[in-house]
Amino acid sequence: MAERDNLVLAYRILAAHGVVDAYGHVSLRTAANPHRYLLARAMAPELVTADDILEFDLDSNPIHDTGAALYLERYIHGEIFKHRADVNAVVHNHSPSVIPFGVTTVPLRPLFNTGAFIGDGVPTFEIRDFQESGDIIVKTPHLGHALAATLGAKPAALMRGHGAVVVGDSLMLAVVRSVYLELSAKLQMQAMLIAGPGGPIVYLDEREVEATGGRQASAGTWKRTWDLWCIKARAQIEAEEKAKRRRQR
Ligand code: MN
Repeated sequence: MAERDNLVLAYRILAAHGVVDAYGHVSLRTAANPHRYLLARAMAPELVTADDILEFDLDSNPIHDTGAALYLERYIHGEIFKHRADVNAVVHNHSPSVIPFGVTTVPLRPLFNTGAFIGDGVPTFEIRDFQESGDIIVKTPHLGHALAATLGAKPAALMRGHGAVVVGDSLMLAVVRSVYLELSAKLQMQAMLIAGPGGPIVYLDEREVEATGGRQASAGTWKRTWDLWCIKARAQIEAEEKAKRRRQR
C-alpha cells in the first residue's frame, strides 16, 4: 500500500537528517477517509517498516487494537488533523537546533531560500499555560487541542523545552519543512554568533518570503529534494531486507 510505504520513507528520511532520534513521529491523513490517519506504533523512527504502521481515528484511537504500544503523544496528530482541513501530514520532533528558539525570546526568522516558509510565522507552545503538573509531554486530547490552537494556520510551532510540530498539505512538504527548519535554526545561530550581540543580520524580507515560496511553496519546488531522499531511504531499506534474508538462510 503506497501510503504506508511513503510514510516509512518519511520516518527514515527524518531520522537520516537528525530531525528525529529514538523519539519523534510522522503521520499521514488517509486519502480514503479524511477522518483517519496513519502513524507507526511506539518505536524508534529509524526502525519503522510498513508492518508497524497503524490506522487511527481523529480522536487518536487505533482502528484495530493490535496490542502494540502506542505513542503517548499521538494526540498531537489527531488534534491537528481536526483543526486543519488543509493539513495531510504532521511531524513531531525534538529537532535539536530549534529547541533554543523555544526557550528564549529570540524568534526564528527566514534567512535562506529553503527556509523561507519560516517567514509565515512559527509560534511557540507554552505547555504551562494549559496544565500545571510539570509534565511537558502532550499526552492528552486537551493538550493536543491546545497545541493545535497555538499552531493556528502556521506551517510549524515550537514546543517550549521539548521540540516542534511541522505540518504540510503533503507528506513531502511536512518532511522537507522539518529538515529545513532544523537547518535554518542552526544557520541562524551561526549568523548570530558571527554578527555578535546586536550585530545586523539580513533576513529574507516579506517580498522574498513570498517570491521564494513561503506562502505558496509548490510541490515542484521540493520534488528534487524529496526524490533524492526517497532514493537513499529505499536503498537503506533494501539493504536491511537483504541482510535479513541472508540471516534467515
Ligand atoms: Mn515529544
